Amino acid sequence: MPYKGGSRLSGERASKLGHLDIIQSDLVNELIDQFESYDPEIVETDAKWEKIDLSEEPLRLIFAVDGSKQTVRSDLPPYKELSFIKTTLLRLDQYALDKLDPDAPHPMALRDIMADAAMYHATVLPLKGVRVKGKNNYDAVRQIIFESLNDHSLNREPYNTLKWLAYELWTGQPKKSPSFSCPHCSEEVSGLPYNTDEGECEHCNGHLFLSDMIGFHLEMGEDVAPDSVSTAYMLIHETLLLFTGIRHFWEKKKYKVLNNALFLKDGPLTLRSQYSKLVIPIRNFIEFAKVQGVEIHIAGQEKTGAFVDHLEIIAKYAPAGSFYAPSNDYIRKEVQHRPERAEPYGFRTNYGNKLFVKVDNYHYLVMSIPTGNYVDTKSAADLFGLKKILATLPSILSHRHECALIPIELANGVASLSSYPSAAILKIFADI
Ligand SMILES: [Zn+2]
Repeated sequence: MPYKGGSRLSGERASKLGHLDIIQSDLVNELIDQFESYDPEIVETDAKWEKIDLSEEPLRLIFAVDGSKQTVRSDLPPYKELSFIKTTLLRLDQYALDKLDPDAPHPMALRDIMADAAMYHATVLPLKGVRVKGKNNYDAVRQIIFESLNDHSLNREPYNTLKWLAYELWTGQPKKSPSFSCPHCSEEVSGLPYNTDEGECEHCNGHLFLSDMIGFHLEMGEDVAPDSVSTAYMLIHETLLLFTGIRHFWEKKKYKVLNNALFLKDGPLTLRSQYSKLVIPIRNFIEFAKVQGVEIHIAGQEKTGAFVDHLEIIAKYAPAGSFYAPSNDYIRKEVQHRPERAEPYGFRTNYGNKLFVKVDNYHYLVMSIPTGNYVDTKSAADLFGLKKILATLPSILSHRHECALIPIELANGVASLSSYPSAAILKIFADI
């Protein structure tokens, strides 16, 4: 996802609500006055900003993942819809970073990075009206997802990472995959047997792929898949790419490399609704690494949404070079403005806790950082590897965009759809 432009409010002062002169309520009028007031908002929050400790050495090796997608639809009936998805994993070392001019990176230097240190994956999902090998759309999408995760140009590594997570292979203990709803009979399958790729439903004997465990079929119809399936595939694939890097070093016992690496993801460390099946294995792995004393640095950066809006307001009152890790209570009261709920924030869907960072007066970031097992943030020490992550930020800030990080900007460049054929050309294929 690209960084948005500056978000300064326009100077428009004309009253937007003045014509509603029928409103007599004092309360409503007070609200209107507030709405139209352009005085800088004074916001008092409980945010307790702490100083970033720059005595830590910055991490020298940085990986960043990002993805993009584009859905095209034929103009003439019978309508067909295809969604093109691209994801990328980019590696940057300190040498490459030093070569880059943060104000105006030289296109050749960027080209070298992309050629030597970026890998990407591209696939296409038929969302509507496309028949593949006599299968209906539903089964075709299930099979394409399975085969795409097994992308041979990436040596099936993202799929191996899915297996590694699903069966928690780092433990060495045989266990089933997480349980999931059968794509044929909707009964709950108790999980595929240890380390298998395919299997049968214990209720209807229907054929199952390990990738069915992720749950894409839960939002698909027999002939139509919504665009959100393509977004979900992109997010799952980004997550698998991120953990492919981590798994690689873990399996080779290159713990020193892990200790010196930062894994960055565009967007929060979240997998929503049914796609959250992988959240528990991810948390279990982080906890395992923590117990083993191997520090792993993972961070997501979100660029839109309620947390970003909130930080825009409170960052004004925060000192440069500081951070604040909000508790669930703060998030509920100050960001979500919600009443207390039975389930704690992000309990099922997040594998990282939120962090607000104001690096300098131009860069403030909403990040999420794993904690291992689920915890409500009590102190910044709950966030795994926080000190080193924070100490690395100043060296990877973009000077081209406010609130932007160079590795994510570059990953975005590789993943961006501009490197696809143009949308018009994609349409030609969709019309066949
Ligand atoms: Zn079944």
